[in-house]
Amino acid sequence: MRNVKLMLVGLLLTIMSGCGAPDAELVVYSARNEPLIKPMFDRFTEETGIKVVFVTDKAEVLMQRLQAEDSNTPADVLLTVDAGNLWWATQNDLLQPLESAVLTENIPEYLRDPEDRWFGLSVRARTIVYSPERADARMLSSYEGLADPMWRGRLCLRTSKKVYNQSLVAMLIAEHGEAKTEQIVKGWVANLAADVFANDTAVIEAIAAGQCDVGIVNTYYFGRLERDNPALPVKIFWANQGSGGVHVNVSGGGVVRDSRHVENATRLLEWLSAGEAQSMFASSNLEFPANPAIAADPAVAAWGQFEASRLSLARAGELQSAAVRLMDRAGYR
Ligand code: FE
Repeated sequence: MRNVKLMLVGLLLTIMSGCGAPDAELVVYSARNEPLIKPMFDRFTEETGIKVVFVTDKAEVLMQRLQAEDSNTPADVLLTVDAGNLWWATQNDLLQPLESAVLTENIPEYLRDPEDRWFGLSVRARTIVYSPERADARMLSSYEGLADPMWRGRLCLRTSKKVYNQSLVAMLIAEHGEAKTEQIVKGWVANLAADVFANDTAVIEAIAAGQCDVGIVNTYYFGRLERDNPALPVKIFWANQGSGGVHVNVSGGGVVRDSRHVENATRLLEWLSAGEAQSMFASSNLEFPANPAIAADPAVAAWGQFEASRLSLARAGELQSAAVRLMDRAGYR
């Protein structure tokens, strides 16, 4: 009888260890790529002794994988970019609510899920860039202002298929309602100098090359090009100062619903929300720290202070499908 019991315990342990990582190991699914995350995980392991195994892929692929694996998933933490993706993860019940005084203290309320299932870990600003040679900064004001006929044939935009633009338009809907936002987006489309671009870097390069005079991009793409070419003939303009603020978004993460290592997984997110990790997280990709106590990278700080929109990012997710339909109606491809 005792032998049978021992066998059962052994069998149970085998099954349990087969289901996920050992206790001092975490499995992270990350839409952020290896050069960005590996140095941070290495430091976390040095400090805590907790090993981190990670898989990187596109956000959609990782979230589909979590759905397919369901309660058998080996994953403990999901890291991705854009509140739209994080919202999708919560809508599909992929993450669990966390009770962490450290996270609620470090991450401002508008940069996290209202039910604390995800937390922003770095902030990205999506604002206006322009050619100082061909566009007068005094004529620039806001995202809405780029719909003005004065920009006819002068605007470059990235495709509406990218979640960054879906979140931007979702936030415009949150502020103005659908009818007014549709007029704005139609104005943008009427002002396009070229077909929409596949990525933000191509938009900045088109402005540098003289193909257009203004565009909307995430500032870290500008930062990368500026780092490679300090004489880049493109400048940043902080949009909507005094009228709602610059549209900001996050990269962030949460603990997977069926994680078997909730305590350590929470510890990893807490560690990422503080001190050294915040500096690394923001600086490695020229983003802004999500924790307001941490200073930005000097190259980023050199772009100047700006007022950021304080609309809760969860709204971007809620209004995402409305934004996609609206952009389609407005002819924004
Ligand atoms: Fe990006």
